[in-house]
Amino acid sequence: MAHRLWSAGMQTLVQMVYPPRCLSCGGLVETDFGLCGTCWRDTPFVSGLACDLCGVPLPGQSDHAEHCDECLTLARPWVQGRAALVYRDRGRRMVLGLKHGDRHDIARPAAKWMARVSRGMLRDNMLAVPVPLHVNRHLRRRFNQAALLTQALAAELGCDWCPDALQRVRATQPLEGKGRAERFEALQGQIRVADSRVPLITGRPVLIVDDVMTSGATLAAATEACLAAGATEVCVTVLARAAKDA
Ligand SMILES: [Zn+2]
Ligand SMILES: [Zn+2]
Repeated sequence: MAHRLWSAGMQTLVQMVYPPRCLSCGGLVETDFGLCGTCWRDTPFVSGLACDLCGVPLPGQSDHAEHCDECLTLARPWVQGRAALVYRDRGRRMVLGLKHGDRHDIARPAAKWMARVSRGMLRDNMLAVPVPLHVNRHLRRRFNQAALLTQALAAELGCDWCPDALQRVRATQPLEGKGRAERFEALQGQIRVADSRVPLITGRPVLIVDDVMTSGATLAAATEACLAAGATEVCVTVLARAAKDA
């Protein structure tokens, strides 16, 4: 009890010294959810009906799982997928800040947003794993933003996580500018489960985490790798879903 009171006191003190700031505009905020009211309203959070495989918002309402046109035409080897944001405007800026701007402070609130949409996919004994950066990019950027998100999300969801379960087989060219078919082809078989991590994956459900989903080719390759290593089923979750017409 005394310890808890002390913690609460410390937290108040920390907040007085370092009051939480809005991730987007820098204004003061009262909660640790990361955004002030104005930026919250202007950020494209996914709410309401969404595709059960990729998390893109869908019009209307439904009492069962719905799939978007893209997920109806493309092979999605995972069973469920969610996205916290749509990849546009402030949603896009948030992802780019995390990816390129060393805005590590975005990871914790972003994980709360992801947990909000992902909690329903959580299975018993689920293991969260990040999509791996390819080798060159990791060196240039020095950290894997997907691993950062996975760590924070696993803490929110109370599940295990492993930062290096998945690895790239070899460095691939950046996918920017490539068509959908080229992306799927370029990535096929290029992600694998590290030999030492196979026992960790075998026989359990896996949640694959990434910062952004575009075509879904990377997530498909990562899912195939987990299934090949004996995962019982795979779900995916991303901070933002890039939708063609959103
Ligand atoms: Zn703000
Ligand atoms: Zn979809």
